[in-house]
Amino acid sequence: MAVLRIRGVALSDGEPVDLYADGDRWTADPVPGAELVAEGWILPGLVDAHTHPGAEAPGRPLDDDILRSDLRAHLDSGVTLIRSPGLAGDPPAWFGGEDDSPRAVHAGPWIVQQGQFFEGWGRRPEPVDLPAVAAEQAGRTGWAKVVVDWKPGDDVIPVGVLREAVARVHAAGGRLAVHSQHAAGGEAAVEAGVDSIEHGMGLDPALLPLLAERGIALTPTLAVITESLQRIAADPEAAGRSWYVPGASAHGRLTAAAVEAGVTVLAGTDTRPHGGIAREVRAMVAARVSPHEAIAAASWTARAYLGLPGLVEGAPADAVVYDADPRADLNLLGKPRAVILRGKRIQ
Ligand SMILES: [Zn+2]
Repeated sequence: MAVLRIRGVALSDGEPVDLYADGDRWTADPVPGAELVAEGWILPGLVDAHTHPGAEAPGRPLDDDILRSDLRAHLDSGVTLIRSPGLAGDPPAWFGGEDDSPRAVHAGPWIVQQGQFFEGWGRRPEPVDLPAVAAEQAGRTGWAKVVVDWKPGDDVIPVGVLREAVARVHAAGGRLAVHSQHAAGGEAAVEAGVDSIEHGMGLDPALLPLLAERGIALTPTLAVITESLQRIAADPEAAGRSWYVPGASAHGRLTAAAVEAGVTVLAGTDTRPHGGIAREVRAMVAARVSPHEAIAAASWTARAYLGLPGLVEGAPADAVVYDADPRADLNLLGKPRAVILRGKRIQ
């Protein structure tokens, strides 16, 4: 098989690149007879940093066939790397490693408090055991995911427990992601120094400089929250309306303020059908995040945060190529000219 070559303008910095896939590594050293597969504007692949592939609906078990088709949908949309902060079960060994599925990092099953979250999903340790369970998970896969708050009026995981979980996860060489959709949960997460806050709805914007200072990332999952807001706002009888409507209404402003404050913001979809990362980018831009920053959240910034370099010598050979600058026309995001994963053309 001929060596694959791409050429064009690379983002983030807009510099010209001419790269050859030496197996799963990009190199600038020309390879004779290489096949130029695409030319244009090039991203180092899109990233969905918050997605739970493999289950038909909340509470349902992990299903291999659904998992494969969800991952394929990600790939078709130009996503070459996902992070799953919570899965319906421990994934099969091929997860994240096969030709037709993106690279993947994951936190295994969610770690949740008893009586909260979707029935049938997650591990539910006693609070005293939660830090050890999180550390054990992070030691296995690099990440653990804790649901710090859930419905209005539910108990928030005490900050002391969360702080110990962070310490033990870090000692195991891993990182801790935390689900929060209430002000109190967000505050506890920031105080405990978790690695990423997922959703962050209701987070006090005054805490954003602390997130930036402590290197706490925020994955706002803005598109799905905005869609839920429209549904809940239209239904006067909707459960949790008085909590959800104000939090979700402020969420776009919070997202833009987080970018402004220098917080690492990651794009994540958190919903079915999979492959909707472009929607999240558009939601961020609608909330007045610049197209450059919104695409960064769904590409090079998220990749760097998850440990993968961009379009540089020696980087993993992933790329998405567009006909023109996607920052100038976000509709292009859904229409890649080529998707390259592990040095192979997928689309
Ligand atoms: Zn989620």
